[in-house]
Amino acid sequence: MRIGVLALQGDFALHARALEKCGVEAVEVRKPSELDEVDGLIMPGGESTTLLKLIDAWDFAPALEKFHGRGRPIFGTCAGLIILAREVESPRQFSLGLIDVTVERNAYGRQRESFEASGVAKLDGGPIALEMVFIRAPRIRRVGPGVQVLAEHGGEPVMAREGRVLVATFHPELTDSTAVHRYFCELVSRSAIAP
Ligand code: GLN
Repeated sequence: MRIGVLALQGDFALHARALEKCGVEAVEVRKPSELDEVDGLIMPGGESTTLLKLIDAWDFAPALEKFHGRGRPIFGTCAGLIILAREVESPRQFSLGLIDVTVERNAYGRQRESFEASGVAKLDGGPIALEMVFIRAPRIRRVGPGVQVLAEHGGEPVMAREGRVLVATFHPELTDSTAVHRYFCELVSRSAIAP
């Protein structure tokens, strides 16, 4: 099993390290054709407007849609989530619409641009304690009926999943715990076996 990390911009190297800690081969993906070589993809945090420009410049959107259509799991953190969302506010911008959520960018205000919090995620093996690092994070303002909320902070969803698309508003690659990456690796391994 090989998992790609979209390496156009943002903190892709730490995601690759977290995958390696889970015993999975991580592959940096820089061209759309490289998606053919991986079983799942992480879209890291960074700056979604810059990421969008690069996605456009490399014509990545159709390849990402095809990858999703082939049942390959995608995990978007922070800016990655913003790219995957159905709707983006503040300001409105293009997104792929692969998970039925509405997100508001930079929505914690100046005082709380970056902060850490503890929480509990409801993953497959039962509840897991999480340290969550938020960096100019978006807030998930709406989740569609098909979306499962996996973790909350202050009563709001911060990690969610719809089918094979997983998203988090925080940065799991910045903590020592590999629980969230392990959860994604399991999702990828199950979907690689399934037809
Ligand atoms: N604030 C960024 C954006 O709106 C996201 C920040 C992040 O990925 N850590 O694109």
